[in-house]
Amino acid sequence: MTGLRVTLTLMCALLAVACNDVREQEYHDQFLAFGTLVEITLYGVDPDHAGRVTAEIEQQFQRWHRDWHAWEPGLLTEVNARLATLQPFTLDPALLPLITEANRLSKLSSGLFNPVLGRLISLWGFQGNPLPAGTQPDPAAIGKWLANAPTVDDVEIEDTRVSCHNPEVAYDLGGFAKGYAIDRVIDLLRARGIDNAIVNAGGDLRAIGMHGERPWHVGIRHPRKNGIMASIDSSGDTSIFTSGDYERLFEANGKRFHHILDPRTGYPAVGSRAVTVVHEQGAIADAAATALFVAGPAEWTAIARQMGTDRVMLVDSGGTIHMTPAMRAIIELAPDIDAEVRVSGNPPLETAIHRP
Ligand code: AMP
Ligand code: MG
Repeated sequence: MTGLRVTLTLMCALLAVACNDVREQEYHDQFLAFGTLVEITLYGVDPDHAGRVTAEIEQQFQRWHRDWHAWEPGLLTEVNARLATLQPFTLDPALLPLITEANRLSKLSSGLFNPVLGRLISLWGFQGNPLPAGTQPDPAAIGKWLANAPTVDDVEIEDTRVSCHNPEVAYDLGGFAKGYAIDRVIDLLRARGIDNAIVNAGGDLRAIGMHGERPWHVGIRHPRKNGIMASIDSSGDTSIFTSGDYERLFEANGKRFHHILDPRTGYPAVGSRAVTVVHEQGAIADAAATALFVAGPAEWTAIARQMGTDRVMLVDSGGTIHMTPAMRAIIELAPDIDAEVRVSGNPPLETAIHRP
C-alpha cells in the first residue's frame, strides 16, 4: 500500500514537471511567404499541437500568396484582367472580404493608401525582382496615369457583383495583405486554443497574450542604422507595422527611389523615412503605416485621426521623430537615439474605429 502511494506520488510529481515544461515552452517555426520570412512563436503549447497548427498556417500562407499576388497568375491577376475590361463580373468569394476591407481603409485614408495603383507600381518596376537598375519611368507615362488616376471609388461592389469605371484600376495589395493575413492567422490560432503567440512577417507583427510571466518584447528597426531605434512591450493584443523607405529601393541618376508611391504625384512619397503604427488589428496598422508614410510630417496627424489610429511614430526625412502621446506612453527609445522628439496629434478617442 505504502509502495503504491509512493509510486503514485512520484507519477504525479513527474506529470507536474511535464506540465510545467509545456507551459514554459516556446515553440518556433518559420517559412517564406509573401516574399518575406514569416515567423510564428507560440508559448506554452504542446509541441505536437503547435507543429500541426503551424503547418496549417504555412499552407494558408502559401494559398494566400497564390490567391492575392498582384503579378503572379492567380485569383487577383484574373480580377485585374476582368476589371480592365470594364464589364461587370462576379468576384470570387475568397477575395471579397479582403478587397472590401482594402477599399474601406483606402477611403478612410483619403486615398493615400491606394490599393488600386497596380499600374503605377509596374511603371516604376517595383513589382519585379530584381528591381530596375538605373532607370526611372518616362515622366509622360506617369502624367498619363495621373490624368486618369484610379481610386477605389472607381470600383463598385454589390454583393459579389463588381463593376469598374476606370481602366487604370489594378489591385496591388502589397501595402495591406500582410496585416490582413496576420489577422486571419491570429483568428486561426485562437480557434485552435492558442492565446499566447506572436506572428511576425518580415518585422511586421501581431502579438497576443504573454510570453509566460512577461510581455512580448518587440524591437522597431532604425531606418538608417543597423539595429533598433525603439521597443514596445505587448501583453494584450497588439499589431506593430512599419513602412520604411529602406525596404525596397533603387538608384537612378544619383537619386534613390523607394517603393511607397504617392498617388497624388505618381512619384515615391517624400517627407518620411519610416512610420510605425500600433493598433489591435494588423490590417488597419498595415494600411495606416503606408498611408501615413505618404501623408508625411505635414498631414499624418489628420489622416491618423481619420483612420482611427492613435499610436503612431513618424521619422521624417530630417531624422526628427514625431509621435502621438499614446505612442509616447508605450514606446521606449533606444539609449543611443539623440534625435529631436516631437509629441503631437492626439486623435480624440471618439474617432477610434470600432468594428463590428
Ligand atoms: P508597406 O511596406 O506596407 O508600406 O507596403 C509597400 C507596398 O505597398 C509597395 O511595395 C507596393 O506594393 C504598395 N504600395 C506602394 N505605395 C502604395 C500606396 N500609396 N498605397 C497602397 N499601396 C502602396
Ligand atoms: Mg502597409
